Amino acid sequence: MDGYGTGKFAAASEMREMRELARQVTAAKEVRMPEGDTIYRAARALQKAIGGKVVTGFETVLPKLARLNDDAPLVGRVVEKVESKGKWLLIYLSGDLILVTHMLMSGSWHLYRPGERWRISRGRMRAVIRTADWEAVAFNVPIAEFHSKRSLAQSRKIVGLGPDILADEFTVKGGVSRLAEYAAKHPDAEIAVVLLNQRVLAGLGNVYKSEVAFAAGVNPFRAMRTITPKEMEVMVDFAQRYMKANVADGKGDGIVTYSGNRRTTHAMNREVRLWVYRRQGRECRRCGAAVMMRKQGEQARSTYWCPVCQPWAGEGTAPLGRI
Ligand SMILES: [Zn+2]
Repeated sequence: MDGYGTGKFAAASEMREMRELARQVTAAKEVRMPEGDTIYRAARALQKAIGGKVVTGFETVLPKLARLNDDAPLVGRVVEKVESKGKWLLIYLSGDLILVTHMLMSGSWHLYRPGERWRISRGRMRAVIRTADWEAVAFNVPIAEFHSKRSLAQSRKIVGLGPDILADEFTVKGGVSRLAEYAAKHPDAEIAVVLLNQRVLAGLGNVYKSEVAFAAGVNPFRAMRTITPKEMEVMVDFAQRYMKANVADGKGDGIVTYSGNRRTTHAMNREVRLWVYRRQGRECRRCGAAVMMRKQGEQARSTYWCPVCQPWAGEGTAPLGRI
């Protein structure tokens, strides 16, 4: 019983939809490393719930945010829009104020009805934006900043992002030229490291990095100079399709809705959702060889691949991983 049977949420179907959106935002916390699609979904749910609404309450435990709120209160401002940019989530408020958060590994945004019990302890709350109908709660967000349009435009870490794979204007051709430009400057960079670089393409995280390389049959340790334009095209195309499938509103033509985990295979069984990610030592779903795992790049992120489906095409010997 939600107690909101009157007014603008009267329609039962709309109530169901809003509950589903709230669940989707909540589900974001179950994913270890939010990828662009998770942030996109969170932004979309927040936009639907609090977009266009007046802020009736704001609470934060972050001193910088609290100071600004003391000087120029959020209450009374209108949430103009909520959008994602790569892995950043931006909440635009009237009066030229933008709340920018990054979830990194641990953060999440939840939506609750006023008075509804939070699913994460209060001690992890970092900020709450209240409207008449919803509470949007940021838990554990490691980065939360207020910006003006001007300071945002000057923020290199946000505006320095590559094209967002989930943006409407993103094209495979545009994505390929980003990869090609980067390859020309960094011929020795390894492809899977580049796929994670948000300055090249924004949105891919560690799960999709391995999945995209698998889908294209590209060994993730190959240097950029060995990657053909055709391979780049296949990877960018898969990246866009995988991520779009995970933010699709479900129903019809086999596109699978998000359900707490993302999937890249077409199988409906939860167990057979991903091709290689976290499957080291198990049989490749395509050829049966053992999937390998190896830490890669400066940040030593886990990379998964099938040594048969993704043959070594570089110089020297093929890198080996744990199985
Ligand atoms: Zn294989």
